[in-house]
Amino acid sequence: MLFAFIALIGITSVFLLPHRWYLWLTVLVGGAALLVTWHTKNFAYLCPRCGDVFEVSMLEDLLSPNGGSKKYVKCPQCRKRAWADILRIKEQPIHKK
Ligand SMILES: [Zn+2]
Repeated sequence: MLFAFIALIGITSVFLLPHRWYLWLTVLVGGAALLVTWHTKNFAYLCPRCGDVFEVSMLEDLLSPNGGSKKYVKCPQCRKRAWADILRIKEQPIHKK
């Protein structure tokens, strides 16, 4: 979703307003930051190894590969990387570490 957003803005910026590229860059960076912030705050991850539910940092959220309903992140409980199920925080009880 994030990469689709960046690609869309990138393509649009090439065809529209090429002389105002810096405005598009601002929109791109701001929009991506908002999206990642929103995503980081609203989603948690369920470890397939130990069943722990955890949140990740904004940087990890941005850098980790996302595969639809799963995300490749490091579990703070068993300290191993795995394809964790993505959960909406509002629907799941979270215990903070
Ligand atoms: Zn785990």
